[in-house]
Amino acid sequence: MKRLLLCALVVASIAVPGRGHADSVRHDASSIDESGKPMVLAERPRTSRKWEQIDPSVLGNIVAAANTNKIFLNRCAGGCTVTPGSTDSRSNRSTIPDQTSQLSAFSRGDAVWNNVVACMKDVFTPFGVEILTTDPGSSVNHFEIMIAGTPQQLQLGSGTGGISPFNCQAQYIPNSLVFVFDVWGNSIEDICATAAQEIAHSFRLDHVIEPSDPLTYFNFNGRKRFKDAELQCGSDCVNGRGPFGQTCSGANGQSHTCTCTGLNTQNSVSVLKALFGTGTPTPPDLTITKPKTGDNVMPGFPVAVEATDVNGIGMVELRVNSMLTASITQFPYVFNAPTTLTDGTHNVEVTAYDEFGASTKKTVQVVIGKPCGKPADCPLDTDTCIGGRCVPGPGVQGGLGTVCVDNTSCASGQCAADNKGNRFCVDSCELGEGQCPDGFGCLEAGENNGVCWPGHDDGSGGGCSTGSGGALAIGLSFLALVIARRRPRK
Ligand SMILES: [Zn+2]
Repeated sequence: MKRLLLCALVVASIAVPGRGHADSVRHDASSIDESGKPMVLAERPRTSRKWEQIDPSVLGNIVAAANTNKIFLNRCAGGCTVTPGSTDSRSNRSTIPDQTSQLSAFSRGDAVWNNVVACMKDVFTPFGVEILTTDPGSSVNHFEIMIAGTPQQLQLGSGTGGISPFNCQAQYIPNSLVFVFDVWGNSIEDICATAAQEIAHSFRLDHVIEPSDPLTYFNFNGRKRFKDAELQCGSDCVNGRGPFGQTCSGANGQSHTCTCTGLNTQNSVSVLKALFGTGTPTPPDLTITKPKTGDNVMPGFPVAVEATDVNGIGMVELRVNSMLTASITQFPYVFNAPTTLTDGTHNVEVTAYDEFGASTKKTVQVVIGKPCGKPADCPLDTDTCIGGRCVPGPGVQGGLGTVCVDNTSCASGQCAADNKGNRFCVDSCELGEGQCPDGFGCLEAGENNGVCWPGHDDGSGGGCSTGSGGALAIGLSFLALVIARRRPRK
């Protein structure tokens, strides 16, 4: 079936300097034979890019990091006026309209709008970006996405879903102003993905063929997120050509070289992190439900984990005695420890990563064979005994009660601090059970949790014979576990 594809392709030569439309040739429509190319979405509004020539005086100041981390989502309540001129979000000027133009307000109501805003915050969580819904003003650098109006209001074809200025000269178009038109119905994911795509075009990013990345024309059932992977450019080919004239190839004839680099692939996460740095994605919630610290277990014992994250769990890893034993990418997160483990105390460490690599680590210690009753029962002279477990004692680096900086400096993986700035390696104990060795007491540290703290008198009679003067001064409520957050991978 031959069908008209409405799309506003803008082709320009980088070699021709100029302003406005002087350097561009606009094709308002082209046709496409869809019969052999089911991936081409003719009914779906397509987005567009328009070549933007950056002022040479500005160009010299553009460096790898963007001059702002603010992205303003503008719903144009009451309408927006867009004036022709070099793109500048601060004065709502744009190379895209031919004349001073009015965009009507976003028409889909507060509920849809709020969900779009939440989606954009979510999609940009991995990056040091601030998503704003109020105008930072005419004197503050910012990127802006107008989500409003119709393409016809900017003299574009009715099939245009969004448009961004585009440029290969610099890492980004300063104060870029892009548009997402009100043509997506109430589809939050389409509006959000188009907004993410359009602003990303202002960061020199091209379309890709991966359906789950916002930079694609392909459909995806779910939230599109920028992928930390080298993705093939394309998805936007018409009659064997990309929007800027590249020859298309690949399984569906939808692959082409990336417009600015000439390479086959791009990594949108790398580009966004170079511009904005890394955000602070929330690490997963993680609990080792089985075994518990101090459990007496058999070799090959099961390890069960509950892991959740707003962005989804990417992977859960099990380490036993610091050796990576297994990794699981799908629920349920249940492991078996190696069957080769010998008698003694073993450190069980579980790390959960979300889809962006933010991680949370939890550890428990278990005992195989006869539990220790006192330090002398342990195989190493430097070990001490806590609740039947042999753990590195005060005499060794990272051992119980030694001064620490963070969790990684402790054999137990737990560095705790009191309100006086003292930080010691601790290990878990059960409150009121007299499990801690001489010189230590079991100090409450969070709900139903105790740690062996040097010099603390826990009233068990066995723990604090050598207590220092500091013991009484350490209030139970003052101890806070220092949770070291590992850096996201990459
Ligand atoms: Zn696009």
